[in-house]
Amino acid sequence: MELPKIVLLGPPGAGKGTQGGLIAEYFGIEHITTGGALRINRELETEQGTPGSFIDRGELVPDAIVNEIVEVEIGKVEGFVLDGYPRNKEQAEYLSTITEISNIMYLDVAEEELIKRLSGRRVCSECGENYHIEFHPPRLDGECDLCGNKLIQRSDDEAGTILNRLKVFSEHTKPVLEYYNNREGFVRIEGRNNPDDVWEDIRNILEMGDGK
Ligand code: AMP
Repeated sequence: MELPKIVLLGPPGAGKGTQGGLIAEYFGIEHITTGGALRINRELETEQGTPGSFIDRGELVPDAIVNEIVEVEIGKVEGFVLDGYPRNKEQAEYLSTITEISNIMYLDVAEEELIKRLSGRRVCSECGENYHIEFHPPRLDGECDLCGNKLIQRSDDEAGTILNRLKVFSEHTKPVLEYYNNREGFVRIEGRNNPDDVWEDIRNILEMGDGK
């Protein structure tokens, strides 16, 4: 059986990281997250500037940098779930020239809920595990349940930056939804529910095979 090649779309805070991890584990495919790759390379000097300088303003990192990361990562594996890419129409068009996508899943969550999720989010400074001060607190205050390291707030989860990221989503990533809307394998998932229920919906759809 061919391994799935999945695009996971959604605004910041929709749960792409959590669901992307679950999908990857369940189907034995690679979880490719452009946000994660860019955070690791935040100080990388490029002609357009460092990735970190864009991330901290809540802006998109230039396509040339992101496309290169995705092409290299996709080239290494058979199946994957792409989390956080494509983020604009140009990236979607580029993606179509390097691979064929089997499923496009849009995790839909209302803006009000996203602000609550993002402003309370904390992440482990070492392993990247996600928490929320109210909805999913760690067992010990400020400490990761998995590895015991310190929890931090992502620099782009601060109030002003959150609003800019949501604006960037509306302006640049919504057109990607339109781009994929009528394609076979496109499906909208209600992302407001708790993560276990969202995962069940996603798994059911993917197990049906054709994204319908
Ligand atoms: P995320 O972890 O997916 O929320 O991404 C964090 C930040 O990384 C975004 O706000 C952007 O600055 C940058 N980023 C992630 N993916 C992309 C992408 N596909 N294109 C451009 N910038 C991206």
